[in-house]
Amino acid sequence: MSLVSEFKEFISRGNAMDMAVGVIIGGAFGSIVTSLVEDVITPLIGAIGGSPDFSAIKLGPVNIGNFINNVVNFLIIALCIFAVIKAFNAMRNKISPQEEAAATTKICPFCQSEIPIAATRCPHCTSELKD
Ligand SMILES: [Zn+2]
Repeated sequence: MSLVSEFKEFISRGNAMDMAVGVIIGGAFGSIVTSLVEDVITPLIGAIGGSPDFSAIKLGPVNIGNFINNVVNFLIIALCIFAVIKAFNAMRNKISPQEEAAATTKICPFCQSEIPIAATRCPHCTSELKD
């Protein structure tokens, strides 16, 4: 198989397109979250409890303050993503509720009565059931 046709097959398989859409949306989503943290949450935290800027902390040549800043930013971003995904899942469950519980009954093909799924003879019309 040539490289071109192999590539065409990869692209046409659909999941490659899904992946591309995911990467693009993920990138756009990332900048929204970054903006949410830098422009909304960090100033809010600053307004409530003073600016959370650790960059002045230094241990000799080690710039531990910047590292702490990045860790704090990461924790805030992770919390935001968690909250967004939780909200998204709740919304999706509302749109399409969980599948109904597995069936425990079936319909007798002879008398149309509802009977236990494991029955081999209908309790209503006494017909023998093949399946
Ligand atoms: Zn029956």
